Amino acid sequence: MVSLAQIISEISYEMQGEKDRGKTASYIPSLAQVDLHHWGMAIVDRDGKMYASGDSHKQFSIQSVSKVFGLSLALDLEGDDLWERVRQEPSGSPFNSIIQLESEHGIPRNPFINAGAIVVSDILVSKYGFQGAQGALLQLLNPLVSNIDGMFIDYELAQEEDETGFRNRALTNYMKNFDNIHNSVDETLGFYFRQCALSMNCQQLAEAGAFLMSAGINPRNGKRVLSTRHTQTTLALMMMCGHYDGSGAFAVRVGLPGKSGVGGGILAIVPGVASIAVWSPGLNEKGNSLLGTKSLERLVQKTGWSVFRY
Ligand code: GLU
Repeated sequence: MVSLAQIISEISYEMQGEKDRGKTASYIPSLAQVDLHHWGMAIVDRDGKMYASGDSHKQFSIQSVSKVFGLSLALDLEGDDLWERVRQEPSGSPFNSIIQLESEHGIPRNPFINAGAIVVSDILVSKYGFQGAQGALLQLLNPLVSNIDGMFIDYELAQEEDETGFRNRALTNYMKNFDNIHNSVDETLGFYFRQCALSMNCQQLAEAGAFLMSAGINPRNGKRVLSTRHTQTTLALMMMCGHYDGSGAFAVRVGLPGKSGVGGGILAIVPGVASIAVWSPGLNEKGNSLLGTKSLERLVQKTGWSVFRY
């Protein structure tokens, strides 16, 4: 049988030859200026063994992939009460859509579109305060990651988001009108932008997601991060809502729960088998990493890891 090390290096070679690499996110300079030629992948298997290739050690802005970690913290705090403020339905609309908020009385359709993630941020700010929420996020991640060098919240990037985040501000104000934001718009949004501005590399991200592969247990120390049921909920939401309005196509092509971000990163989970992080900054028309998605598709073809396998 072909080894995982060989598979990942084959994919790396295949991706180097790709001409169409998509386009970087253009709304802030820190994302727009990233070199399209970067590509990295890291896989942590159930025994904690790491397989990595390409720029897997290079930091990038994880953006909306961070919504998985914010949700884990909030689910652990609130349990099922969380679902009174955010729903569990795919949206079929772009990540920053405001339109559904009107007909649904300020309750976002899921925690992975911006509106939903902003409510999750609001829950964390209510519990920990603005500074404390950042600390709680890092405290969740630090024990999951073996080498935290270069893992930090990029305040300059968060500032760029803040200065251009008119739409996110509109979403937050709109939800506050329905009493679904309990803190000041500036604090809730300030934390949301900082969470999105987490800088990590593929190896760190694959390790950080490994508790989702292991039913909520941190495989590095055996400690529980999230209950099994809330872990299953998170994976179901990643499958249905993790790629904005491209979630259906991702589920069909890759067949794994995954969460993407506009920095070009994707975290994908094979329950009980592997946690995978891939990064390539060029995006497709739905805002998901073009080569990241292609790499995961190849990986699943070569390993048979789709959750829909027979
Ligand atoms: N910080 C970005 C925003 O809120 C995140 C976008 C994304 O990765 O989906 O617009």
